[in-house]
Amino acid sequence: MITIKSPAEIAIMQKASAILVKAFQAVTPFIKSGVTTAKLDHIIHKTIENHGAVPSFLGYGGFPAASCISVNDTLIHGIPSETEILSDGDLVSIDIGVYYEGMHVDAARTFGIHLSTQAKHLMDTARESFFAALAFCKEGYRIGDISHAVEMRVRREGYGVVETFTGHGVGRDLHEDPAIPNFGKPGRGPRLRSGMTLAIEPMITLGSADVHILEDGWTVKTVDGQLAAHYENTVLITAGEPLVLTMSDEADNE
Ligand code: MG
Repeated sequence: MITIKSPAEIAIMQKASAILVKAFQAVTPFIKSGVTTAKLDHIIHKTIENHGAVPSFLGYGGFPAASCISVNDTLIHGIPSETEILSDGDLVSIDIGVYYEGMHVDAARTFGIHLSTQAKHLMDTARESFFAALAFCKEGYRIGDISHAVEMRVRREGYGVVETFTGHGVGRDLHEDPAIPNFGKPGRGPRLRSGMTLAIEPMITLGSADVHILEDGWTVKTVDGQLAAHYENTVLITAGEPLVLTMSDEADNE
């Protein structure tokens, strides 16, 4: 069942989103060569806690950290580590969930440390495919329109579209209906209604879109070892233009 959020619930999700944006703003200056992913996670964790909220991912299904930090060939669900030290050329996806007054919001960005042109293009395409989909986040469209828009934008560049993980509804639960695949046919799937809150999250690869989960039960890597990128926002469907809850007014992806 796809839940429609009340105005009160939406107001809470907006507050949660402001905290999530602050966590990204706090961590961004530290994403440099020489830093550990554990240090980045610590900054995110502290920022969320200092604003009276809780990291959604910590303890979720047993996940051991506040954020997912996924480097290079890791697509999603990377576990921050004291032994993982970032260096030049790294592509770093950071996924953050914030739980506040009973509601979750969810967003991810991929950052780069002195990237190659090729890696930067992959990173930019993940972001752009989200915005391609945003044009269809309106009443009258369906989930399949979102999926199709992501897929077309990614395929245009010749990149892989990961099929085994999807976006999702978000609200009282971190993962709610509907599933939002990053591929699909236009005009199919549930209709969009005002008050739906959707985590739309393109997950794309430089090479093959085949991925596998490591023995830690979390880390999702590309099978061919090539780069992957991820971008996500929580979006509120309204009667008019969609509201991207988890973005600040300034461009917050650089
Ligand atoms: Mg998500």
